[in-house]
Amino acid sequence: MTKRWAKKGAHTCDVMFDNVRVPAANLIGGQEGQGFKTAMKVLEKGRIHLAAVCVGVAQRILDDALRYAIDRKQFGQPIAEFQLVQAMLADSKAELYAAECMVIDAARKRDEGRSVSTEASCCKMFASEMCGRVADRAVQILGGAGYLSEYGIERFYRDVRLFRLYEGTTQIQQIIIGRNMVREARG
Ligand SMILES: Cc1cc2nc3c(=O)[nH]c(=O)nc-3n(C[C@H](O)[C@H](O)[C@H](O)COP(=O)(O)OP(=O)(O)OC[C@H]3O[C@@H](n4cnc5c(N)ncnc54)[C@H](O)[C@@H]3O)c2cc1C
Repeated sequence: MTKRWAKKGAHTCDVMFDNVRVPAANLIGGQEGQGFKTAMKVLEKGRIHLAAVCVGVAQRILDDALRYAIDRKQFGQPIAEFQLVQAMLADSKAELYAAECMVIDAARKRDEGRSVSTEASCCKMFASEMCGRVADRAVQILGGAGYLSEYGIERFYRDVRLFRLYEGTTQIQQIIIGRNMVREARG
């Protein structure tokens, strides 16, 4: 592989708002007291969207790892022939498929107008954690090359760490899922 890989993704910085006056016309939700609820609804869609992004990125990482495993020879054979390497590929494939199914199910329910607070959080949590595991296994499959920027996987490994943080951390998704479960059980 050549050095066609950029070493950094999007530029990232803090944005600080100090003593900012926001016109009443720009009130989120249009009604005082409704802003948080409205923002949460936007987050539900955002979480399904982010889960879909995780599925896409994980697929790209797995494709790269599989291609490398087929090309790379050790002990006279492609490392893709080693069952322990196949196990890492298989675990990634199965988890990726599960996340994809979750995204499709949650998106379909949302399109039907159903409340998807729990599903959106499940999707976001599982897909972002899955993506981290797929990236970690890809580094392992590439061995030392997985650690070198020339091969691109190390950048994915760094970049996908973000998915477990924004749009609500994994802990926040756990809180939402758990709280919804208890609320629904109580009726
Ligand atoms: C690259 C990047 C891009 C971003 N883009 C955006 C953006 O476009 N728009 C935007 O609004 N934000 C954005 N964010 C902010 C992002 O959403 C927050 O960083 C994220 O929600 C975590 O909040 P925090 O950083 O304040 O961490 P904290 O809230 O301080 O959390 C720190 C730790 O404490 C845990 N924690 C916090 N509260 C609880 C709790 N109640 N119970 C248990 N554990 C808890 C968290 O899970 C985490 O492990 C971005 C962040 C990054 C890094």
